[in-house]
Amino acid sequence: MVSDAGRTAADARHETRRRREQRTDAVLKLPFGERVTLECPECGQAFETIIASEPRTSPSFDSCPNWNCDAFFKFRSDGTESGPADAVSSRQAGLAQFSDD
Ligand SMILES: [Zn+2]
Repeated sequence: MVSDAGRTAADARHETRRRREQRTDAVLKLPFGERVTLECPECGQAFETIIASEPRTSPSFDSCPNWNCDAFFKFRSDGTESGPADAVSSRQAGLAQFSDD
């Protein structure tokens, strides 16, 4: 479409995010980076999922795995994952020290 030519990738990402937020039927909270079993609040289907995207504060989206259910979820960290959010960066700093030898 010609009208999309001037749009930037950032605009497109923002639009996708906005559409997903509007579509969201339920917000499910789970520990970051851990595989957990959740239950769809719409149809009761149990399913396993994991959120491992960065940054942790950014929500993930997915639809219900039940083909007969069109529920759409937003996944958020519930803050109970192990370790502080900056654990990775401090570990990388330690590795950088070794690589200087
Ligand atoms: Zn469902």
